[in-house]
Amino acid sequence: MKKRKIGIPRALLYYYYFPFWLKLFDELNLDPVISDSTSRYLLDKGVKKSLSEICVPIKVMIAHVLNLDQKDVDYIFLPRFRSLRKDVVLCPKFLGLPDMVRHSLSDLEAEIIADQIDSKSDNIAQFSNHQKLAETFSIPKREMKKTLKKASNFWYRYRNLLFEGYLIDDFVKIEDIEVLEKVISKFENGEKLPQSQRKDIGTAGNEEVIDITVIGYVYNVFDQYINMDIINKLKEMGVRVHTFSMVAEETIEKELSKLRKPMFWEFTNKLYGAAEHYFKNDQIDGVIHLTAFGCGPDSMLGQILEVDAKEYDNAFMTLRIDEQTGESHIITRIEAFIDLLRLKKENN
Ligand code: SF4
Repeated sequence: MKKRKIGIPRALLYYYYFPFWLKLFDELNLDPVISDSTSRYLLDKGVKKSLSEICVPIKVMIAHVLNLDQKDVDYIFLPRFRSLRKDVVLCPKFLGLPDMVRHSLSDLEAEIIADQIDSKSDNIAQFSNHQKLAETFSIPKREMKKTLKKASNFWYRYRNLLFEGYLIDDFVKIEDIEVLEKVISKFENGEKLPQSQRKDIGTAGNEEVIDITVIGYVYNVFDQYINMDIINKLKEMGVRVHTFSMVAEETIEKELSKLRKPMFWEFTNKLYGAAEHYFKNDQIDGVIHLTAFGCGPDSMLGQILEVDAKEYDNAFMTLRIDEQTGESHIITRIEAFIDLLRLKKENN
């Protein structure tokens, strides 16, 4: 029987949950179709259909949904992420995402599957989070639960590699579940990437290696087009990149527990916890806050990070991206930042 096509936009939390979703749809015998990588052409289409004042990652999402609709998929998977922790929600744009997409793209042909994700942790594998998906494809509850468990186990294997020091970038371009499974097994068995970022390569204090933490939402840090390929540019400059996805949950929790009151938004809190952890780490030479123009939560986080960076005497820079950001501007700023860090290291 021909597999039914389900589109997954390569945007927002795709960069966090893609192994989970690829495994889930494969096990359910569906045919996942991933939207193309972000490009000028794709983004321009999304921008035209979006509210002008909305943040760029949402414009990117609109662009990817449009792209999937043109690929003749029957369904588009667009969950409404509400919560990943008790009493903490995600940014309001996530809460209203399916409505916003339906409003902006009223002539969409594919059917949107918009299950609400309400979880007490990052593990979103509960049946209640996938009820609409199960109904749409007539999947019995028992089978769905078993499949969700498999998908979550796979996702945890991948996450453990991130905690070891691999970057999301090392996996995210893989769309084929069989290839992804092979790559994960290979890394679990100790095979390293040529350009590996693993923590055990190089030593702290090594003059040639500059260690930089890029603090930003996964969809800003790992969408190569929207951030002008910042990760690879840093690598080319001899930088070892660290990101929040490498920080264990317990470490982030420990940092968050020191706050009198955490912020309202889940991923903003995670970034804060990771940044505090890195600020105290002597191996880190500098921190870059990568933020999107028009991001409400980041206007608060950015201020806090700036103050804390001063307190810990850490080199800190904010890079703001939007649909107009020019590549040369980003490169010049990164180069200047790295030069200063090298100078500082040499003088020390
Ligand atoms: S957290 Fe910021 S960048 Fe992300 S969706 Fe919300 S407003 Fe946009």
